[in-house]
Amino acid sequence: MASTDIVIIGGAIVGASIAWFLREEGFAGSIALIERDPQFTCSATTLSAASIRQQFSIAENIRLSRFTLGLFRELKKRFGDDADIGFREKGYLILAGPEGGSILEANHAVQLAEGADIVLEDAETLQKRFAWLSAKGLSAGAYGRSGEGWFDAHALLMLFRKALKQRNVEMITGEVSSIRREGDRVTGVTLADGESIDAGLVINAAGPNAGRVAAFAGLVLPVEPRKRSVFVFEARERFEDMPLLVDPSGVWVRPEGSVYITGGAENEDGEGPADPADFDPDWSLFEEVVWPTLAARIPAFEAIRPGRAWAGHYEYNTLDQNAVIGPHPEVQNFVFANGFSGHGLQQAPAVGKALAELIVHGAYRTVDCSPFAWQRIADGRPFRELNVI
Ligand SMILES: Cc1cc2nc3c(=O)[nH]c(=O)nc-3n(C[C@H](O)[C@H](O)[C@H](O)COP(=O)(O)OP(=O)(O)OC[C@H]3O[C@@H](n4cnc5c(N)ncnc54)[C@H](O)[C@@H]3O)c2cc1C
Repeated sequence: MASTDIVIIGGAIVGASIAWFLREEGFAGSIALIERDPQFTCSATTLSAASIRQQFSIAENIRLSRFTLGLFRELKKRFGDDADIGFREKGYLILAGPEGGSILEANHAVQLAEGADIVLEDAETLQKRFAWLSAKGLSAGAYGRSGEGWFDAHALLMLFRKALKQRNVEMITGEVSSIRREGDRVTGVTLADGESIDAGLVINAAGPNAGRVAAFAGLVLPVEPRKRSVFVFEARERFEDMPLLVDPSGVWVRPEGSVYITGGAENEDGEGPADPADFDPDWSLFEEVVWPTLAARIPAFEAIRPGRAWAGHYEYNTLDQNAVIGPHPEVQNFVFANGFSGHGLQQAPAVGKALAELIVHGAYRTVDCSPFAWQRIADGRPFRELNVI
């Protein structure tokens, strides 16, 4: 039976980042990174909209994103001169109707206090700033002048995974099918092919499958897959100044090279977990909600040519749509890095750093992630993020 100091379940952005930062923080023990889908065809990381923002309602979420932003800005220093994730710092534009104005204002105050470069503007000013926008029905909008935008998620993932090859991290292809536990300790994992690996510490980085993985250890984690579709379309006109726009309805759109991508506005009322094997985009959502909303908000998008589409799974935390980070309070050698509910790609580097600090130094040093601790699940005490896109 193999034996490893740290086993990380899930080798996409969260797992890879944790492994990389463990080495950066000086962890010298053995690390195994276990991934069942080494092409990442179904992982949230590669199916995401690959965007980063600072427009959150909770200071801790802004701090996590700002850490990642800092890493993006020194990518070549950290990963070498070839490192390039195509970061396009074009901003987010989050729009509010009459009811949403006060929430936008309150969020904006939190963002400014954290040093984010966001301006809050009324409908008339927005109309002047963005000629292609219809400001009809808007009360205000918050625009990120810097520090927000989009990038190539696959390139970011490959940066970490390639770097791990030089960092003595064992990359295992396999599916964890059970976790061994003795009392208040986990002692190892078993793979679907029967291989067993003893572990001193197990980290759950299993994305939308994290609830199931926690259950292998007999632990409760209210994280489930929720299907989210992304639609590609072409338009005759190019708007070079277009940020990632979020309509009050929840529909979002942004440029992607020579085309645009869009999605959002899924009805969460009564929504249950997705079938883990269902990756079919919801075309009725596009026809009935997304396209009509786009055409009303950006009149040039009345005449667009829909292209391909894909769907991925959010790792949806049903308690509060926010991450669960850190050890279980009783089973302390089982660590969570889960539940990011649609904003985990941009948080992954920061969470990797935070957990590496906790494991190596015994405390969070850069971003205090203790408000994300699992205990709130047991207490039924939400730590709610309002800006879930
Ligand atoms: C449509 C969509 C749009 C999104 N847009 C954004 C965005 O713009 N910005 C942003 O920050 N976030 C976004 N997200 C969220 C983001 O993609 C995720 O939060 C992030 O990628 C989570 O990373 P992860 O490594 O935890 O999960 P994943 O990328 O899903 O990786 C988990 C890995 O664990 C593996 N795994 C699971 N179970 C096991 C097991 N038992 N054994 C072995 N391996 C296992 C899986 O194969 C998978 O590769 C979006 C998500 C979706 C679906």
